[in-house]
Amino acid sequence: MLDKIKKISTILNESFGQKSLINSLQEFFLKNFQVKTFYLEIPEQKYPLQTFNENLVKYPLFKHKKNICNLYFSEISEELTDFLEIAAPFISLKVQNITLNDKMQKNIKFHETMKYIAKIIETQYELSYVIPIIGEMIDKFFENYLLYIFLKNENTGLNYLAWPIACKDENIMGIIDQIDGKIFTSDRHLLALPLHSEGKDVGVLVAKSTDDIISAKDEDYLEQISSQIATTINRANVYAEILKHATLDALTGFYNRRQLEERLKQEVSSAKRQKTPLCAIMTDIDYFKSVNDTYGHAVGDLVLKTIAKIIRGQLREYDIAGRYGGEEFSILLPFTKIKEAKMVAERLRKSIEKKAINISKVNAEADVKEINVTISLGIYEMQPNDIEEDLLKKADKALYEAKNTGRNRIVIQDV
Ligand code: GH3
Ligand code: MG
Ligand code: MG
Repeated sequence: MLDKIKKISTILNESFGQKSLINSLQEFFLKNFQVKTFYLEIPEQKYPLQTFNENLVKYPLFKHKKNICNLYFSEISEELTDFLEIAAPFISLKVQNITLNDKMQKNIKFHETMKYIAKIIETQYELSYVIPIIGEMIDKFFENYLLYIFLKNENTGLNYLAWPIACKDENIMGIIDQIDGKIFTSDRHLLALPLHSEGKDVGVLVAKSTDDIISAKDEDYLEQISSQIATTINRANVYAEILKHATLDALTGFYNRRQLEERLKQEVSSAKRQKTPLCAIMTDIDYFKSVNDTYGHAVGDLVLKTIAKIIRGQLREYDIAGRYGGEEFSILLPFTKIKEAKMVAERLRKSIEKKAINISKVNAEADVKEINVTISLGIYEMQPNDIEEDLLKKADKALYEAKNTGRNRIVIQDV
């Protein structure tokens, strides 16, 4: 007996997680007490998730009248009963510790998630960019649930799915347009929270559990997160409204897409009128997603800013640079023929390739101080019959080919 007590105390000392504890206990009871089956159930954690259908003997462990965990055995011998009388308090203490530790870890992770969302709100305003980041983050946090973010279309007043790409659940699609308050189904499997910020409904967050119920703690987490998401969306909407009227992109200082299109119109008509050449360059950063994924979005933003600065530095006063999309820039070169444009593009490509971008101020924890990125470029020279849209479209086609043929290179689009 003493020997077995010693053994179990070693096991309890050496297990740090639920899984390892369960596995070690299982091995211990099967080996030392000739039981055929052993399970440890932690009611609060709903662990294990499966229900046992065998005829097992339940040995519940309590502390201050609270059911900490239940041990299930295929049979309990007299020797095992004696043993459990001594060992049970230690097992229950260990389970309590592990459960508490798990809870703390989850709390820490939750606050990190919230902090991260808050940081994104500070710097990013484009919903098409922000929502997938938030979506991925909350998916990671609430591993056991399916999560959906719906956004309200301001014109129609209807909610549309923004994260993830599809929702095949007809139940959810059915409630989403009539929702005017929190919905929690009586089986606690579906929770829909209206996203509400500054008096406006901006969308809905839906959590669906496929097996377990949504716990009260998770309900609380989801409510906190939904309020954070609502703030983000509301701010993005407000900014979108402001940006519509602005001309410059906040991050790079380049023309924004709308203004770029405005300038394109002017340049095309002026080049046609004066019969002067006009070239367009489309560029896109290579493997930019992995920069974000590896070093974080703040580093991604720094890279965007740095590249914009390099581009600006290489252009003439009357060249036009615009942020076409997330990490895509368009450049218009008036009075420029394709040969010259190619030289400009090559200069850009080379100076970006050799620029070591110091990221240590933005991400001190990264394992490197500096990173290098490359860009791909597509060029096109306007032809007499081209209409305005042709210019960027054809430059973009060349860019696409540059991507497909190795990246960090220039492709000229044939006329
Ligand atoms: P490829 O070489 O094919 O261009 O690969 P890629 O990873 O660059 O291409 P992809 O289009 O898949 O990824 C573009 C990424 O750009 C996705 C998004 O994370 C990032 N991005 C877009 N806008 C911003 C921004 O404003 N800031 C930051 N940090 N990242 C952005
Ligand atoms: Mg891209
Ligand atoms: Mg890219």
